[in-house]
Amino acid sequence: GARGEPLLQAQGVLMRFGGLKALNEVDLSIARGSIHGLIGPNGSGKSTMMNVLTGIYVPTAGAITFDGRSVVGRTSSDIALSGIARTFQNVQLFGEMTALQNVLVGLHHSFKSGLLDVSLHTPRYARENLRGTARALGLLRFVGLGELAHEQARNLPYGKQRLLEIARALALEPRLLLLDEPAAGLTAPDIKELIAIIRKVRDHGITVILIEHHMDVVMGLCDTVSVLDFGQKIAEGAPAAVQSDAKVIEAYLGG
Ligand code: ADP
Ligand code: MG
Repeated sequence: GARGEPLLQAQGVLMRFGGLKALNEVDLSIARGSIHGLIGPNGSGKSTMMNVLTGIYVPTAGAITFDGRSVVGRTSSDIALSGIARTFQNVQLFGEMTALQNVLVGLHHSFKSGLLDVSLHTPRYARENLRGTARALGLLRFVGLGELAHEQARNLPYGKQRLLEIARALALEPRLLLLDEPAAGLTAPDIKELIAIIRKVRDHGITVILIEHHMDVVMGLCDTVSVLDFGQKIAEGAPAAVQSDAKVIEAYLGG
């Protein structure tokens, strides 16, 4: 896609669940290299938007293009391989596995070894496993978890588990990273660390869509913010302008 074009574009996205319009004709345009905030009260459709963008749900109507190519109707693994990675609102790690193994799961797409290579421990598998492990360790260091590589995921403090999810998502080498409330439940020092990591991700040229309730995180990180309320986009723009928008204030006050 051309440099000036948005990386991701959604037009008229409608998502019905029975009688409920969880998303009601939402347009979204995500600029390349930006951190784009998606905010709104509980139940406003933020996670649904993420699920639609990543192929978990097929929208009832509307168009979504990523790098000029339609996303609608493709499987979530196909969309992930095309460059959209995500984390979930609730941590989804393999608790019994180590931090390193969790990232290796994220890297598995780039392995060419088949099951036979793995069970026969072919040289190809040995090579890929070695390279994969080095890369996984690099990703763990990137999010500050280098020292904890061999800890079981479920034994990591909650804040570290959230960072591990980010490392696993980055293993896909995404061009777009979607984060669903990454700061939820984190302590103030954890949040500071998270902010620095998200900035570092963006500085590596990865575009970020950030769903977040912590306004200081949104204000500090986002270039643009879109606001959803009852499935509709009610405001969009620079963080400071959005924060003082009367419609946004009313939505958050439960108007
Ligand atoms: P947010 O992430 O902004 O808090 P969600 O996108 O999770 O909101 O939910 C938006 C609305 O859609 C809510 O009313 C929610 O109950 C509803 N919803 C989300 N997923 C489903 C589903 N799979 N089936 C039925 N309703 C759903
Ligand atoms: Mg949500």
